[in-house]
Amino acid sequence: MKTFDVAIIGGGIMGGSIAFDLAKRNLRVAVLDRQEMMHEASWAAAGMLSPAPHHPTDIPLVPLGRASLAMYSKFVSAVENASGIRTGYRTGGAVIVISNGDAEREIGKMVDLHRSLGLSCEPLPLDKARNMEPALTQDARATVLLPDECSIEPRVLAAAILGAATATGVKLLPGTEVVSLALDGKKCVGVKTATGETIHASQVVVAAGCWSSQISNALPYAPTAPLRGQMIALCHSGTPIRNVLRSERGYIVPRGMSSPQTVILGSTIENAGYEKRVTSGGLEKILSAANALVPELAKAEVIETWSGLRPGTPDQLPILGPADIDGLVFATGHYRNGILLAPITAKLVSEWIIEKKTSMDWEAFSPLRFLRSN
Ligand SMILES: Cc1cc2nc3c(=O)[nH]c(=O)nc-3n(C[C@H](O)[C@H](O)[C@H](O)COP(=O)(O)OP(=O)(O)OC[C@H]3O[C@@H](n4cnc5c(N)ncnc54)[C@H](O)[C@@H]3O)c2cc1C
Repeated sequence: MKTFDVAIIGGGIMGGSIAFDLAKRNLRVAVLDRQEMMHEASWAAAGMLSPAPHHPTDIPLVPLGRASLAMYSKFVSAVENASGIRTGYRTGGAVIVISNGDAEREIGKMVDLHRSLGLSCEPLPLDKARNMEPALTQDARATVLLPDECSIEPRVLAAAILGAATATGVKLLPGTEVVSLALDGKKCVGVKTATGETIHASQVVVAAGCWSSQISNALPYAPTAPLRGQMIALCHSGTPIRNVLRSERGYIVPRGMSSPQTVILGSTIENAGYEKRVTSGGLEKILSAANALVPELAKAEVIETWSGLRPGTPDQLPILGPADIDGLVFATGHYRNGILLAPITAKLVSEWIIEKKTSMDWEAFSPLRFLRSN
């Protein structure tokens, strides 16, 4: 019989980060994934670490995003030291580019909103923006600098987290599909797998990304749904791009600073079920947005295209915290911000499992909100 202190369903960035945190506190932890670990949304992500609201529905998330960003450098050091793998963590900020409409008014609104949420945000005169980013489009009418934003290479981070978790004693169980929670009255005592086995654990964490809703008896707490994002990687030999660049149509995330340089372009947000196809319309949308931001990219070579499924929720907020069943905790539904939110999610879930209290209020993200709304 397999028995652990904590069984985590899902070996994405959430499952891996929580496992690493708990194992450092000497708990016996298993991570169960129905396939190879870290091959879903966490592998597909661009790696922007941006607590800025991209939509009004993101505003309740800003304090959590700020707290997680503040933890990132220590989180990366811990993961890199335990695994021996460098993660491509970059500080230096993101530049928002406005090329349409009343740019000055847009900038004023953006600066006021960001500052009211405690986020650093500076209007960036166009000549300075062009000094920073010589390849920037001549069509830019105004630019803003978000100096605290960072980026990371998610696939390398994912490998480092798995390495760190293994080095700390976490048991990774790829190829283990969980079909339901194992309940004993009002207590969760483990999970049941597709082969009929029960894996026993005093605490179970549901971190199965957009598939969390498919685990029998988890659905009422985690009505997650997939939102597809398509992505493109280019290799370009022009002037290297130094910062993350964003417009309202898309973004460019540079990897490394040498030429030729790899840049990641994103993305679409599509309701396409669990279908991970890359489409001609999706690629066209992403490429036209990127080429409008940095026209030189039209000459770059397309080296990879892919798509991934973001774990969406009905209110676009994550699902974090205990259920009304003893021993059951949720850490899912991170939608567009899971790479950013991994450190704070791991910290809060670990605190809850060990101390039954958290250092930050997470009530707004409780899985019980979906029971209340029924
Ligand atoms: C195109 C794209 C771009 C993105 N860009 C960014 C970005 O720039 N910055 C950012 O912060 N976030 C970004 N995100 C969001 C981020 O990637 C996700 O929020 C995050 O990866 C979610 O992590 P997760 O561990 O919850 O889910 P996942 O990485 O999807 O992992 C879930 C795991 O659970 C496993 N699983 C599912 N069902 C079961 C089961 N029944 N039994 C066992 N295992 C199961 C799956 O196999 C999978 O490995 C992006 C996402 C996409 C798709």
